[in-house]
Amino acid sequence: MKETNKFQFETRAIHAGEEPDMREGASGDVAAPIHLSTTFARHEVDVPTAGYEYTRSLNPTRFALESKLAAIENANHGLAFSSGLAAETAVVMGLLRNGDHIVASDDLYGGTKRLFNKVVREFGITVSYADVMDTTAFERAITPATRLMWVETVSNPLIKIADIAALATIAHKHGIIFVVDNTFLSPYFMNPLELGADIVLHSATKYIGGHSDVLGGVVMLNEHNLYEKIQYYQNAAGAVMAPFDSYLVIRGIKTLALRMERHAENALKVAEFLEQHPSVNRVVYPGLSSFGQYDLHKRQARGNGGVLCFEIKGDVNDAKRFLSRLQVIALAESLGGVESLVELPSLMTHSSVAPEERAKIGITDTLVRLSVGVEHAQDLIDDIEQALA
Ligand SMILES: *Cc1c(COP(=O)(O)O)cnc(C)c1O
Repeated sequence: MKETNKFQFETRAIHAGEEPDMREGASGDVAAPIHLSTTFARHEVDVPTAGYEYTRSLNPTRFALESKLAAIENANHGLAFSSGLAAETAVVMGLLRNGDHIVASDDLYGGTKRLFNKVVREFGITVSYADVMDTTAFERAITPATRLMWVETVSNPLIKIADIAALATIAHKHGIIFVVDNTFLSPYFMNPLELGADIVLHSATKYIGGHSDVLGGVVMLNEHNLYEKIQYYQNAAGAVMAPFDSYLVIRGIKTLALRMERHAENALKVAEFLEQHPSVNRVVYPGLSSFGQYDLHKRQARGNGGVLCFEIKGDVNDAKRFLSRLQVIALAESLGGVESLVELPSLMTHSSVAPEERAKIGITDTLVRLSVGVEHAQDLIDDIEQALA
């Protein structure tokens, strides 16, 4: 699996896991075939054919994807699940037991917080939250029962950056497993394992899939012992990625580098346009020199991604009017697809966060989140300009 690692990212993303089968009688497919079969015939009763028995346990298309995932993260192992939250569930339930404790950042993706607060806690696993910009608060939250530390590289919608190397040092000093959700940057712009994380996780529904047409979650890691536990849970609980979805994600990864370059290029142009617009209060994007954690971000990531947020002057009706006037950019939740998507966190993705809590963390009624796609940047800017007018 590691032999393709001598190549650069783009080459690994295209070739890893899909070397054509050139053996006698094989067809030499350049793209991994979609193996829809749920079961695999064998010659002998106790010898599965090439290790394949039943698709929940192992499927050739999913295995091709899992090999590619490991290669693009320079990891020893990759795993693919039916959604990002299924991947998160497998990490938590595969590794923790009743009585264990998690320290997580306080502005996690809403679905992750719901999983922790409403589901995981019912199994006797406790969770504490700390501000991701305050590494000492993370250390203070650690108890003798802490087994996992959990952060996002770039939070949402306010784009707080976690100092991965500093948090990894704290976690390892206390013998804690450090999990990083790198959904917003993708493996093209950042590799948390190389900065000290133990487990990297992504919602493949976002940039890795990249076309808003497949739901998936992926986990990459080096340590075999952790891999075995998560893989055991994957098979035992069963939320694996389907073969057809695995094919779509494989296809998405082949253009990840191209897409991320264009997402970031477009996002910077849009952010610069917004920053000088008289109807906009502030713009938050890691590529702007006005960005508060610009130096930290530059130190640990190779690029800025495609998500930004900005605050429109006025009240919620001004924000609604802006959103309803957009013509190219779709008003929808989610992010990371080739098409630009916009949303109003206070009424959409973060509507379940209490108003006082939203105000405290800076999610105002006119804060807009924009996932900048790979359309022509000028068309996006023109669309925003006419909607703000
Ligand atoms: C979307 C998302 C998830 C959840 O992934 P699903 O594929 O929707 O289950 C987790 N973390 C982050 C940062 C996300 O954006």
